[in-house]
Amino acid sequence: TTNGRALVLRDIRVSYGRSVRALRGVDLEVPASGVVALLGANGAGKSTLLRAVSGTLPLHSGAIDSGTITFGGETLRGSDPSVPVRRGIVQVPEGRRVFADMSIDENLRAGELGVRGRSKRATAQAKERVFDLFPRLADRRAQAAGLLSGGEQQMLAMGRALMADPELLLLDEPSLGLAPQMVERIADIIAIINQQGVGVLLVEQNAALALELADHAYVLDVGRVRLQGASSDLAASDEVRRLYLGEI
Ligand code: ATP
Repeated sequence: TTNGRALVLRDIRVSYGRSVRALRGVDLEVPASGVVALLGANGAGKSTLLRAVSGTLPLHSGAIDSGTITFGGETLRGSDPSVPVRRGIVQVPEGRRVFADMSIDENLRAGELGVRGRSKRATAQAKERVFDLFPRLADRRAQAAGLLSGGEQQMLAMGRALMADPELLLLDEPSLGLAPQMVERIADIIAIINQQGVGVLLVEQNAALALELADHAYVLDVGRVRLQGASSDLAASDEVRRLYLGEI
């Protein structure tokens, strides 16, 4: 699926209304097919950054004030969420947001809505790939999504995103609220998806998990990059161990 495009953010500033400056000049890069983690306390601006990239900031309050976002060198900045999807960037929102009353099959079909001119064959292949990754979903495809467990809903949300055949996935807190075993399962799946060539920008409260999955990580603090580096270096830093890994 990938021919190697990097996501690059330069000096991105985002505000909500007049007074909340959520991102205060952020530079960040996700190399083609790389896994990058975004860490930081509640309110640091992690979700805001993902939403700025995917064009899903709240319409009337959130806005990108300045800066550039490019994907493969092409400008990608605006409020129309269909543009990133067509270029291969798909977000899995915090809290999964599956359509509870719709079946698993229908939820997956919704993941294709932003994709243009797709053949039946391509749809069938995309679905097959999702069901290979998540056999549990295949077994229950006619069931309402609202009946799935939290972990299964996370799988469905990721499957729905994969239906658009993304080159870069934006994952917002995939492990939130899941039992440890399910967290491991989701982590394995993220690694497999990446091995298939899909890049990942991962927002996670579970810093240990994020640093294990990612090659490179950024720590956001009140809208600014406080630290960044190779995951192994960050995992060894006193500051990260104390503030985010609960050690020392
Ligand atoms: P969390 O883990 O709590 O989601 P986060 O790092 O993702 O934290 P954001 O959700 O991006 O942080 O929030 C960054 C800042 O922007 C916070 O001060 C938050 O209160 C504010 N904010 C987020 N969404 C809105 C909104 N829709 N309207 C106004 N302010 C907002």
